Amino acid sequence: MKRIGAHVSAAGGVQNAPLNAQKIGARAFALFTKNQRQWSAKPLTEEQISAFQENLAAVNIAPEHVLPHDSYLINLGHPEAAALAKSRDAFLDELQRCQQLGLRLLNFHPGSHLDKSSEAQCLATIADSINWALAQTTGVVAVIENTAGQGSNLGWRFEHLAEIINQVEDRSRVGICLDTCHTFVAGYDLRTEEACEATFAEFDRVVGFSYLRGMHLNDSKPDLGARVDRHHSIGQGKLGLSVFRYIMNDPRFEEIPMVLETIDESLWPAEIEQLYGLQKEM
Ligand SMILES: [Zn+2]
Ligand SMILES: [Zn+2]
Repeated sequence: MKRIGAHVSAAGGVQNAPLNAQKIGARAFALFTKNQRQWSAKPLTEEQISAFQENLAAVNIAPEHVLPHDSYLINLGHPEAAALAKSRDAFLDELQRCQQLGLRLLNFHPGSHLDKSSEAQCLATIADSINWALAQTTGVVAVIENTAGQGSNLGWRFEHLAEIINQVEDRSRVGICLDTCHTFVAGYDLRTEEACEATFAEFDRVVGFSYLRGMHLNDSKPDLGARVDRHHSIGQGKLGLSVFRYIMNDPRFEEIPMVLETIDESLWPAEIEQLYGLQKEM
């Protein structure tokens, strides 16, 4: 089964996120387990944790179909020691929060070298950060998101993702989330069935579909290869519907959370319905 949802609000507490997912007809969702623009947050309370788990069960969404996203402030490839340590501590806290909630995945952007270290050094630092944090937690998979390649952000080429995985000690706890907008603006065409075939074959060759743990389903405002991260509503951007039809009919995308981060959340219920409607009759 395909599991479509959106990055829903957790305003008022994480326990509200499953209810917000249910309201839009989601079978999966993403959330922030803390304010994404602040470094520290109060620990989750026992009440919040049990309310989250009760609500999740009540809306019939399994923990493996929830794809929490970490704070935008975190840079696991930071070239400076003090800032790197701060990012690592914050990332560990994010993993621990997922573990407390009984969740299995944590989605994050790999990191940036800020033009102060080489790509190779930055990728090694990111892998070290992942190893350090995984060693202090159990059960949660670190899910690296491919990026748009804006500025000095790494992870926009499939080779970057493969190199990080290659340096992670416990491969059972590392995975990939592909964002359709990021993939496209990073230079991988997805506008036709043939282009999807070629791009996903390259992903499989370089990284491997066995690592795919989630998708972000976004159309793109910028054009192919623009290296600028601007999402658009489904079918309204430069991607069009082909890639979404392709994904909805390909068994390699079954049973993983596929999350909308599109710009107009009032459209989410319609977008979710539209995506399911792209599935061909069996
Ligand atoms: Zn994304
Ligand atoms: Zn993005």
